[in-house]
Amino acid sequence: MRQSNSDGLRPEDFPLGSPESRAAARVVLEARKEERRPRAELISNVNLRWDGPGTEPPDWNKVPYAEPWVEGERGILFRTVYIPTLWKRAPYSGEGPLCPACGMPYRRYDDRKGWVLFEAACRETHISSDATFGIGCGPIPPDIF
Ligand SMILES: [Zn+2]
Repeated sequence: MRQSNSDGLRPEDFPLGSPESRAAARVVLEARKEERRPRAELISNVNLRWDGPGTEPPDWNKVPYAEPWVEGERGILFRTVYIPTLWKRAPYSGEGPLCPACGMPYRRYDDRKGWVLFEAACRETHISSDATFGIGCGPIPPDIF
């Protein structure tokens, strides 16, 4: 398999054993090592506070979103993934929300301790799936606090 680095240069593009060939090989090896690093995600359904400039955008907390990867203990890469939810008191016969970015309806879950849960179902559309495992407790009904 031919693999190129970010400049598109491959080790075989240079004379065998040349400094350029070895440098390109090191870049390819580093990229492979980075891809194999263990990763962990915290799945959150808690609304994020708007810290940006100006007023809160209308789709804030309504579209799945991932924080950038950060390096944690023992080299594990870590990030928080936000999956928007909406709770309606059961019984609820109305429509659920649509993702304002892609238009996909939120997934509906009935019988959640007197609540109906709607959860964004379009994570794969908005967030790259390069995690090896995720952690989280799942959505918590609003009257538990
Ligand atoms: Zn969406």
